[in-house]
Amino acid sequence: QTFADFGLHPDLLKAIALSGYTKPTPIQAQAMGPVMDGRDVMGAAQTGTGKTAAFTLPVLHRMMPYASTSTSPARHPVRALILTPTRELADQVAENVKRYSETSPLRACVVYGGVDINPQKAELRRGCEVLIATPGRLLDHIEQKTVSLAQVNVLVLDEADRMLDMGFMPDLERILRHLPEQRQSLLFSATFSPEIRKLGRTFLKDPIEISV
Ligand code: AMP
Repeated sequence: QTFADFGLHPDLLKAIALSGYTKPTPIQAQAMGPVMDGRDVMGAAQTGTGKTAAFTLPVLHRMMPYASTSTSPARHPVRALILTPTRELADQVAENVKRYSETSPLRACVVYGGVDINPQKAELRRGCEVLIATPGRLLDHIEQKTVSLAQVNVLVLDEADRMLDMGFMPDLERILRHLPEQRQSLLFSATFSPEIRKLGRTFLKDPIEISV
């Protein structure tokens, strides 16, 4: 099985080749088809399995029809929201997203707490199709109206188990109220505990479960 077999956008195949990936890892082989088809997915995978590419590549594929070379911020609303528990993970995911979207006009922004909010506001004002965020700082931006989630059609909860361990459930529930009902949702977690399944029932619809 190759990445081309999934029918990924040619720009992404180019980026994959530049990354030196020759074939999908098991989590990628299982997750990419359903995510490209628009299904909700609950994935059990540890870091190091290639899980970041397993969701970022098909999510970027779904964003491709919206890619615009226009500099108008209105042409770059947030369409994919990726939530992570920590700024380190947010940076890592953003680094992946930026690398895979280098060959396309798609834009990515990353926001997290513990740093000055103003440069993030400036970045958000320019617009980005993909926003990577930690929950608390995202809520700050929502409250200050520096970001709108009204056009989000894909939500990703990465390392959801760590988000729950860190006490982010109330923040996640508040963010959920700003997201369109009609959307695709993906959840990745090291394990499927009863708490994670409950989170899945809150955020996902009829998910496909995969585990590696
Ligand atoms: P992750 O589990 O997402 O943290 O990824 C672990 C590492 O595997 C990262 O350095 C990725 O760049 C790399 N990687 C992801 N997918 C592939 C692939 N299909 N082939 C080779 N390396 C990969």
